[in-house]
Amino acid sequence: MSTRIGTYLSTAADLLRGGDIVAIPTETVYGLAADAFNPEAVLKIFTTKARPSFDPLIVHIGRMEQLGCVVLELPEGAERMMNVFWPGPLTLVLPKRPEVPDIVTSGLDTVGVRMPAHPMALELLSNLDFPLAAPSANPFGYVSPTTAQHVADQLGERIPYILDGGACNVGVESTIIGWEAGEWRLYRPGGVPVEAIERVLGVSLSTAGGDPSGVEVPVQAPGMLESHYAPRKPVQVGDLDELLKAHNGQRIGMISFSKTYPVHRSEVLSPSSDLKEAAQKLFAALRMLDASDCDVILAERFPEEGLGRAINDRLRRAAAKR
Ligand code: AMP
Ligand code: MG
Repeated sequence: MSTRIGTYLSTAADLLRGGDIVAIPTETVYGLAADAFNPEAVLKIFTTKARPSFDPLIVHIGRMEQLGCVVLELPEGAERMMNVFWPGPLTLVLPKRPEVPDIVTSGLDTVGVRMPAHPMALELLSNLDFPLAAPSANPFGYVSPTTAQHVADQLGERIPYILDGGACNVGVESTIIGWEAGEWRLYRPGGVPVEAIERVLGVSLSTAGGDPSGVEVPVQAPGMLESHYAPRKPVQVGDLDELLKAHNGQRIGMISFSKTYPVHRSEVLSPSSDLKEAAQKLFAALRMLDASDCDVILAERFPEEGLGRAINDRLRRAAAKR
């Protein structure tokens, strides 16, 4: 199969209507999309990514009317969050309608749903009469793609069409929260800062491990594997001066927040110390260093606030031993 990268919404829509998969831009990362109500189409996502069937997909809607086809009921606070954060990088895990195929939700009775903020994704969805199930468009476990070229580099031959919407402007996946036992829980930090969600809800989000940071004791949502978002080269996260001492003599690929270091390859994510900019550039930097001739990737621990939480979460998973 030869892949085409292009900007034709009609090509993407025709393929999706025909039960095929298409890579699409979102504001978080590129997604590998299929008709969420077509189990055979959704199966192609799992086989193309080599994603295990126990890892549920997020359903993307383009307008509020579609919510009723996907979820059964809205717990307290859900509507308020949708009003504030949609379209945008917040996924809500809610009780699912029986019509949502089991393959989408890994057999759970809940479904993750969000409305993406990328104009091309929204326009595509507005041309379709079904929502799109879409995980990130990369081989399972590897760093997520934030440009059409990233998708082509790894899955190019396996996807009929990549819709090119430029570089993703959030750059990390959505924040995932779920309604469980009468309260909202954080499943994954992401593009919407946890603090902003807590302000809207007026309460703190709990995590399964009881650690409100969600970092040291990660929540075990289905599919949230410790080792994920991982380059092939070894990754270590921590205090850069200490890490540099420990790796003396090696070719260092470094990911730092704002300071440049005199190492073999240095990727500074935001010279002006802006966590949003850093998040936007994180995955491209990991990919670049992974493709370089460095021996090891050393990354700084970011401030544990705002998008820094999502950055630390992805770096920690990238560093986890496989
Ligand atoms: P992604 O790989 O970015 O598409 O995100 C999918 C992740 O969302 C999964 O790995 C799960 O951790 C989470 N998720 C999706 N649906 C559910 C669900 N019904 N219950 C709990 N977590 C979910
Ligand atoms: Mg993913």
